[in-house]
Amino acid sequence: MPEQAFPFTEAKGAALEHQLAARRERRPVDPLLSLVIPVFDEEESIDLFLDTVIPLLERASLRFELVFVNDGSRDNTFARLFDRGRGDRRIRIVNLSRNFGKEAALTAGIDHAKGDILIPMDIDLQDPPDLIQPFIARWREGYDIVYGVRSARLTDTRAKRMSAGWFYRVFNSMSPVRIPPNVGDFRLVDRRAVEVLRQLPERNRFMKGLFAWVGFNSIGVPYERPQRAAGTTKFNFWRLWNFALDGVVSFSTAPLRAWFYVGVVIATIAVFYALFIVTRVLILGIDTPGYASLLIAVLLMGAIQLLSLGIIGEYLGRLFLEVKGRPIYVVEGVYEDGADEPPHA
Ligand code: UDP
Ligand code: MG
Repeated sequence: MPEQAFPFTEAKGAALEHQLAARRERRPVDPLLSLVIPVFDEEESIDLFLDTVIPLLERASLRFELVFVNDGSRDNTFARLFDRGRGDRRIRIVNLSRNFGKEAALTAGIDHAKGDILIPMDIDLQDPPDLIQPFIARWREGYDIVYGVRSARLTDTRAKRMSAGWFYRVFNSMSPVRIPPNVGDFRLVDRRAVEVLRQLPERNRFMKGLFAWVGFNSIGVPYERPQRAAGTTKFNFWRLWNFALDGVVSFSTAPLRAWFYVGVVIATIAVFYALFIVTRVLILGIDTPGYASLLIAVLLMGAIQLLSLGIIGEYLGRLFLEVKGRPIYVVEGVYEDGADEPPHA
């Protein structure tokens, strides 16, 4: 299986063993687990999620908190969460001022989680809660990041599987930071990796890439991704395409550099062609036909220039967004019951 072949961690053999052993010793006995759950129009899923996850965590006698980020839902998501959170201090709701998108919502949740271990999860139960314990077992072995790897994407359409496959191939061939294929946001992250992640200032939060950038010893745990338990997906074709584009452009400058090589090739061809034409005119005299080749050359060059300009525009646009330095998300309020702690900034 390809995911097994992926180098989840750079350290190998004895080096890895020593590092894991050192981490293992420092693991707290009774860690606080934070589940970070971004929600956008998910009123149908909330009860099911809570009724599945809470008993499971209680049975495992884990200390936990649930950090919900309400990403500008337009339905009763917030009210539903608020009702369920009443009287339960383990539930915290970070209410964003509008919809900022899943990546920003996740960032907000990560910033507001207090756990020693964080696990971002979707609310639709597509990230199986049964994996939480295997994740923690790996963390106890000393790994700082434990990825959930979708072993078979049976629930995805053929088109989605194919486009996802292409995405990972293109991304990993261009980006100096490699991301493991078939890994979503569902993973366990140790506090020290979280702290590094929180230092990253960029506005464009391609979380999979950022998590991979952080590094640390990591390992994959395979799982079958089930169908959405309730509600509908929030990602259509365009959202996914833009997401992929964001990912590549924020982690690689290869698309910019490619034009240098295209330029070199075209310039070389042009020099030889020029030599050829001039020599031919010198030997055979002036000859007018050549409309077709002229037109082709002009159109081709025009197209190439527009394309490269478009790619420069992609980067310039992102530079513009970063330079403005607006916050990644805006919090309307943090809601938790029995608030004996000061409100979060
Ligand atoms: N989500 C969000 N903001 C958005 C879109 C989605 O917080 O703008 C949340 C959504 O509520 C869910 C998670 O992100 O908890 C994953 O979304 P979804 O299940 O629609 O994605 P898919 O599994 O289809 O990729
Ligand atoms: Mg889903």
